[in-house]
Amino acid sequence: MLTKAPRGTKDVVPSDSYKWQHVEELFREVCEKFGYKEIRTPGFEHTELFERGVGETTDVVQKEMYTFEDRGGRSITLKAEGTAPAARLFIENKLYAEAQPTKIFYITPVYRYERPQKGRLREHHQFGIEVYGSESPAIDAEVISIVSTIYNKLGVKDIELHINSIGCPQCRKEYNKILKEYLSDKLDKLCKTCNSRYEKNPMRILDCKNESCQAELEDAPLMVDYLCDDCKVHFESVKEYLNELGIDFVVDPKIVRGLDYYTKTAFEFISKEIGAKSTVCGGGRYDGLIEEIGGPKTPAVGFGMGIERLLLTLENNGIEIEEPTGPDVFVVTIGERAEKEAFKLLYKLRNNNISADKDYLDRSIKAQFKYSNKINATYTIVIGDDEIEKDVVTLKNMKTGEQEEIKLSNIVEILKNKLGR
Ligand SMILES: [Zn+2]
Ligand SMILES: [Zn+2]
Repeated sequence: MLTKAPRGTKDVVPSDSYKWQHVEELFREVCEKFGYKEIRTPGFEHTELFERGVGETTDVVQKEMYTFEDRGGRSITLKAEGTAPAARLFIENKLYAEAQPTKIFYITPVYRYERPQKGRLREHHQFGIEVYGSESPAIDAEVISIVSTIYNKLGVKDIELHINSIGCPQCRKEYNKILKEYLSDKLDKLCKTCNSRYEKNPMRILDCKNESCQAELEDAPLMVDYLCDDCKVHFESVKEYLNELGIDFVVDPKIVRGLDYYTKTAFEFISKEIGAKSTVCGGGRYDGLIEEIGGPKTPAVGFGMGIERLLLTLENNGIEIEEPTGPDVFVVTIGERAEKEAFKLLYKLRNNNISADKDYLDRSIKAQFKYSNKINATYTIVIGDDEIEKDVVTLKNMKTGEQEEIKLSNIVEILKNKLGR
């Protein structure tokens, strides 16, 4: 127990962290280009925020939250997803009073008590974006284009964008009536989950993964065919903007959202890797959320992307993130005085923007060279007590094997030159 991380959690070990750093740097870089600023929200929130913000009828709230009472008797829930806390931040900090739209992003761990499987953990990490304050379909397209940009920059090709419009509370009300009528004589053939959704979330029945349910739903009425004029124009416009950017998509009328505050655009990026199709990123518009949790009526759109899942996608696509190089310099020391001199030298090099390291295990000279090789140092410097006396050290280029003698007192300048710093 003591030396095992809890089920559904995973360490990032030193030899792997460069992959995380690479994708996180990419997120930040892309967000910066698109004009999005980072937010950080607490690791836990009042349980009510998720109940209201994610929806009491959802699996997340009903089965998957890490909820506990704190020592003050408050009901607290570990961050179960990124959107509700971001919306809370938007309201609490009155960002709506600033120039709109508010464009934000986050990289955060989230906690859900799920059955752990590949790329899906109880603590997993999410990269997400939210835009508040704009109804423009151009913003929907911009948000989608951020995901495309990220996949493109990473070289992921096996990915398909599916989009849909799920209407607004007005046209959905009409549609729900029609859908319920259609389903009314099929209920005994639909599964238990479908039946439980009939009253509150009939649209989510379309989403049932059960094959026998899907067989019953083949000619079900679809929301896209019942959009009101406003929703129709919006959807057409989103598609136009995507076409302008040359972003391919398929309209997938079976993408649904279960809750009233989701509106208009819904999209998913589907990975086709190794036969099985799976959603690797999902998002859309949610013009009703901010009001739902107590803020002023504010349109919103966003997406969330699992980082573990993204790394798995890269792996499955054979995309390798370049491993970082070793230190610029490894200092091999011969003798006690040299060791002290080297220790000082490291500090000087590091403070001059040159990465450097030395041995700390009293290794033999041979073993120090071996270690320098192992950590992939670009140069190795050899310092012995005699060399200090003569103000010369040997500099070895570890790639070419070339060696030369250089002045110890000039070492920073010489290395800066060689390394182009
Ligand atoms: Zn509508
Ligand atoms: Zn079903």
